[in-house]
Amino acid sequence: METASSQTAGAAIARVYEQFILPTYSPALALVRGAGCHVWDADGNRYLDLTAGIAVNVLGHAHPALVQAISQQAARLIHVSNNFYNERQAELGPRLAAVAGGDWSCFFCNSGAEANEALIKLARRWGRDRGRYRVVTLLGSFHGRTLATLTATGQEKVKEGFQPLPDGFAHVPAGDLAALERAVTSDTAAVLVEAVQGEGGIIVLDPEYLRQLRQFCDRRELLLFVDEVQTGMGRTGSWFAWQQTGVRPDAFSLAKGLGGGVPIGAAVVDRRLRAVLGPGTHASTFGGNPLATAAALAVIDTIEREGLAEHARALGAWMLAELGRLAGRHPIVKDVRGKGLMIGLLLDAPVRPLLDRLRAAGVLALAAGERVLRLVPPLVLTQAEAAQAIAALERCLGEWAAAAAGADTAAARA
Ligand SMILES: *Cc1c(COP(=O)(O)O)cnc(C)c1O
Repeated sequence: METASSQTAGAAIARVYEQFILPTYSPALALVRGAGCHVWDADGNRYLDLTAGIAVNVLGHAHPALVQAISQQAARLIHVSNNFYNERQAELGPRLAAVAGGDWSCFFCNSGAEANEALIKLARRWGRDRGRYRVVTLLGSFHGRTLATLTATGQEKVKEGFQPLPDGFAHVPAGDLAALERAVTSDTAAVLVEAVQGEGGIIVLDPEYLRQLRQFCDRRELLLFVDEVQTGMGRTGSWFAWQQTGVRPDAFSLAKGLGGGVPIGAAVVDRRLRAVLGPGTHASTFGGNPLATAAALAVIDTIEREGLAEHARALGAWMLAELGRLAGRHPIVKDVRGKGLMIGLLLDAPVRPLLDRLRAAGVLALAAGERVLRLVPPLVLTQAEAAQAIAALERCLGEWAAAAAGADTAAARA
């Protein structure tokens, strides 16, 4: 089914990678085509895609509205630099401000790391006259792979071998306000958090903690930033996860789902901070170009027209309930958690073998860390497709348990 046989088209692609692509990833499959929530590999096998390009393809694959927006814009104007006004950016800024509800201004870039980098630069520039520069983040967080954002990230594994790291970051346990208060010093400028930690294992932060954090930041005059790179664009059941917490950040970052697969990121900043990053302080050649912003506009229109945030909320709740029942039947599943269509299953074992079984059964899913099975499907996933995926998961868990029991018996005999 996969690249195991050296005869397959997928294997031929994998062989090219062995020489011409740096081995920073370990792909298992060559995907060549997609439609809705399905993708096809180079050998014609079809898969139900619960990965959505890592929470990117919010409209699924080849959504006609996105295809049409990109095609039309490509034929008109793909790129101009930010030394010129561009009409699509002038549409997208107000659209994002409207769905975020209020006075916001945007800086457009190309990725989540860049969006967070912009927030970090905003904090430093804002803190300059106040003698402050430090950014406090949470353990288990993920903010990107550039030097500043991997330093901000609260996971040692992304930093290994890249020292010396930039100065100006501190990390505290998620959910522990007292620890955060202790970590804030006179040189702290900002706090950066995810409302639901994605890479860290689908950890939903307590809204009460976030509200107290907001109050603390107000008291100490700190900026509060929310990293919405994975949670944003309807995934958790609202445009942005912070909207369900009662906490309004001073700025938040977007990327992943924003362009539905076309690279675009954004730092969305409270308008009262608009002047902090003045002319010449920050830039991106591609950031917010007409093609990328046209894609983001189509994504926002479609999420709104098809009610995808509400759908994510309802279907996510249904899946959480179904998966909770499944966990009751399979003791290897220790916890089921998430918000909307951002769901994690904590296993009592490494998740890799389960992902392999699922793939062989025609379902693509992700890991978050070693032990969490992560589901971040397209927001257009139907309940029937979700039910199919859960049934496949149930079968795979059963087969896995049976295989493990068989291995134990064999080991006992030996
Ligand atoms: C994926 C992710 C990033 C990094 O985004 P890139 O586009 O890969 O740079 C940052 N923050 C969060 C929460 C993410 O999930």
